[in-house]
Order: sequence, then C-alpha cells, then structure tokens
Amino acid sequence: MENKRTEISDLGEFGLIDRISENFASVNKETELGIGDDAAVLHNEGRTIVTTDMLLEGVHFDLSFTPLLHLGYKAVAVNVSDIAAMNATPKHITVNLGLSNRFSVEAVDEFYKGVKAACESYKVDLIGGDTTSSMSGLVISVTAIGTVDQHKIAKRSGAKEKDVVCVTGDLGGAFIGLQVLEREKQVFIANPDMQPQLEKYDYIVQRQLKPEARTGVIHELSELNVVPSSMIDISDGLASELLHISRQSGIGMKIYEDKLPIDKQTYDTAVELGIDPTTAALNGGEDYELLFTVSMDDMEKIKKHPDIHFIGYVQSLDKGNIMVTKGGSEIEVTAQGWSHFNKK
Ligand code: ADP
Ligand code: MG
Repeated sequence: MENKRTEISDLGEFGLIDRISENFASVNKETELGIGDDAAVLHNEGRTIVTTDMLLEGVHFDLSFTPLLHLGYKAVAVNVSDIAAMNATPKHITVNLGLSNRFSVEAVDEFYKGVKAACESYKVDLIGGDTTSSMSGLVISVTAIGTVDQHKIAKRSGAKEKDVVCVTGDLGGAFIGLQVLEREKQVFIANPDMQPQLEKYDYIVQRQLKPEARTGVIHELSELNVVPSSMIDISDGLASELLHISRQSGIGMKIYEDKLPIDKQTYDTAVELGIDPTTAALNGGEDYELLFTVSMDDMEKIKKHPDIHFIGYVQSLDKGNIMVTKGGSEIEVTAQGWSHFNKK
C-alpha cells in the first residue's frame, strides 16, 4: 500500500460509497439493480439461497499478519463457500463495514480490491451494503445470495446408509498455516528486526490467508449429473462437519485415516510444530473444502475427479461415527478431536 493517507471524514460516507461502487459493475443478468438505490433488485430463477457471516477483528482475524487485500477476498470466499455447500451457484453479495478511525480511505480501497478480486473469480455482483463507524476495530459482515434448481439442493440432512463419503482438496493446511503465522508474529514481537521466513510455508499460509470456495467442484458435479445426498463446507474442521451431517441425517459414518487428503507441506510443517497431522485435518478448520455424500451409483461418475477423495462410507446411526486409524484400530470421531472408541 502507498503511504498516502486520506481520512474517511474527508470523503464522507456518501463519497466513500461512491468511490466503492465506481469499481463494481454487475456481470450477472440476475442483477436487475445494484448499488445506489434504497435496495437492490434481483431476478433469480430457481430457489434463492441466502447466507451471511460476520468477521470481527481480534476474534476472526489479526490485522498484524492479515493484509486487508486478503481479508476482502476471504470475507467473500467464506460466504460463497456456504452457497456452494448447498450445491448452489453464487450470484450476489452485500458487504457491511464498521470502520474505526484507524482506517483510511486507502485501507478501505485495499479491502475492496480483495472484494473485487473475489467477485471476479466467483462471478458474483456486489449489490449493496452499509458503512458505519465502529468503536471496536474492524467489523465485516458479508451476505451472499445464490440460486439452484430445487431438485439439486444439497442439505446436511440427506445422507443415506451405504452412501460414499467424499471430501474435496486437502485438509488441515489453513490451521497449520495459522500456527506458522502466529509463531512468526511472536518472533517479530520479540525482535522487530527479524523478517518472517515464510517461503517454505507458502502453500499453507495461502490456505489460511486466501482460502478459495469450491465453486468449480459444484459446477463439475452438475456437468456429471451428480447431486450429493448431503453436503457441508469445512469451516470448523472435518470432525465437526461430519457430526453435523451425522446428526441431521440420522446416520453414522466410518472414515479411514489413511484416506484423509493431507498436503505434504501441511504434513511436514505439522510434524515440525509437534502437531499430529491427522488432528489438524480433523479439527483444524478454515479449509473451506466440501464434505459430501453420494450414492454408490454416483461414485462411479466422480471417481476420476482429481480433487474429490473418498474417505469412507455411511453406516447406521447405532454404529456411530468411527475413524479406522492407520494402525487398524477404531476410534470414535468427536467434535473436539477423537477419543478411543469403547466397544460395548
Ligand atoms: P440507506 O440510507 O438507504 O441505507 P446508504 O447510503 O447506506 O443508503 O447506501 C446507499 C447505497 O450504497 C445502497 O445501495 C447501499 O446498498 C450501498 N452501500 C452502502 N455501503 C456500502 C458498502 N460498504 N459496500 C457496498 N455498497 C454499499
Ligand atoms: Mg445504509
């Protein structure tokens, strides 16, 4: 960012809103009216899917190692991920900002550069928002709106016995990336002359700072004529999401530790930090991959997909949620991690 600092008060609220909206032209035919009126007008076909998420400074992000550009991107991506997790296509977003006077016009520009990059990569239109002052740091709230044919909606509640359990991409990277960033921050606080050494950790740091929503997989599943029987995005960690599907579908799952997709950099860095890579994959969170179930028939259609991994299958509820370890023992999957499964 340049050193120039313009106070938001110099522009005023309306000046700031004009400055933001100038950079955003709508691309979707579903956006009948975007920013500038009292409300936006949408012309969506099919079912409309709506989701919203709030991000608070000090709770969800740390500005000492999170560039505003990345934060803008991530704020959109995590909402788009929730739309994708319904098997829907994202179309529109709104962005609400609470800004303390620590933030300059240039800082807001940087944030919206990230929002714009995400709008372009996910093909969504920014259709509105709200801008207020905040007494407690940066507050960001994004709402995403998407569409889906009614028969394609994938809820958490549709998993059936004998379905196959799938995850996209790889797991645990975002959590291990955060551990690296926090470690480097402590080093920097102790000795401000030390420059962070992050090259070795490029992939996992990017997983933390600039996560991507899996809209590509949603599109590809549609082309392959596959509708997941259930689906959820992995924001809190595989274990926690698996238990949501279990509870809401009334089924159990059996997964295999040796099938969990873990990137080599994630694995090596976890070991370096003394963290079990499997624990990072199960409980790390913020990977924004998709966890879903498909019928055996549909499994055939997706087995060649390079980013979809089969990690287990659905079983009856009374058999519980079990992970078979690399050593062959059975462990109960719990939200906090995994504890030894006591066979009755
Ligand atoms: P109102 O007084 O009706 O809430 P505003 O002045 O807050 O109107 O907003 C005017 C227009 O600018 C609206 O279309 C609103 O959605 C949009 N807008 C306001 N703040 C933002 C923002 N941070 N990002 C995107 N659009 C915004
Ligand atoms: Mg307003």
